[in-house]
Amino acid sequence: RTKDEGRGHYRLFEPQMKASVQRRRSLEVDLRRAAANGEFEVYYQPVVAVPTRQVVGHEALLRWHHPVRGRIPPDHFIPLAEEIGVIEPISEWVLAQACAVAAARPEVGRIAVNLSAGQFTSRRTNLVQQICAALAASGLPPGRLELEITETMLLKDTDAVLATLHALKGLGVSIAMDDFGTGFSSLDYLTRFPFDRVKVDRSFIHTLAHENPLVLRALNELCRAFSMHVTAEGVETEQQYRAVIASGYTEAQGFLFGRPEPRFSSVPRPPR
Ligand code: C2E
Ligand code: MG
Ligand code: MG
Ligand code: MG
Repeated sequence: RTKDEGRGHYRLFEPQMKASVQRRRSLEVDLRRAAANGEFEVYYQPVVAVPTRQVVGHEALLRWHHPVRGRIPPDHFIPLAEEIGVIEPISEWVLAQACAVAAARPEVGRIAVNLSAGQFTSRRTNLVQQICAALAASGLPPGRLELEITETMLLKDTDAVLATLHALKGLGVSIAMDDFGTGFSSLDYLTRFPFDRVKVDRSFIHTLAHENPLVLRALNELCRAFSMHVTAEGVETEQQYRAVIASGYTEAQGFLFGRPEPRFSSVPRPPR
């Protein structure tokens, strides 16, 4: 490659790169103000028993209503919030909201809250103390709270994470492994971490339901062999649901049963 080509290449992408850096900067500024501006909202998606479809719980899912850009999905802003160090107050707020709503409304059932990687590694706040405080402030019985974690949170500092998980379980809350099957060594994690529940990722439910229902059943049986409860995620169609029932799953979640919605009147209390 000649120098000229290299420079041409550079010139071609420069405006685009500049735009994306600017977009990120402005999103960063907005994200720091979002909490104070009351732009966050917690949506709730039902989790149902299989095959009765009775609601047994809900998952709390964070929404950001940006005043100009509209709704920004959590997959877009949560990694940024972690990077710029604002995930902790946001997470604390979601947790407080979810616990308060669940405590006030028995029909919420079990309430699942997603944890972020930063909450495990933070030196500023102790996750166990934070969960303890949220339970005490809301009066929610610990048995109704489930914390969801993903594989990527388990990659670093395994011993510290393991100790935290055991301490959390000591409080009486349960731990779920989210998006099971999407990572590198899911099976390994099942043997090493004390999960109460495994949530089989929707990519598995979608492809296996029609292509390989035997594997769908085997996944369920594998988790059950480790004495873990199993939830099928992302069930969208009756056909997928039939496969989930036939594979012996006891709980399911997905658009078929209900989308994440602002279901319960929230408790107004902006994050610090
Ligand atoms: P997740 O914890 O795996 O949550 C499930 C995601 O799947 C949600 O996306 C939900 O809307 C979506 N979903 C549920 N049923 C279906 C279905 O039938 N079909 C399809 N296609 N999708 C379905 P959402 O709300 O966009 O959240 C994305 C991710 O962002 C979550 O994945 C979670 O990892 C993260 N997240 C959401 N809220 C929070 C939060 O408060 N804190 C942290 N740390 N992460 C959060
Ligand atoms: Mg989740
Ligand atoms: Mg998931
Ligand atoms: Mg996910």
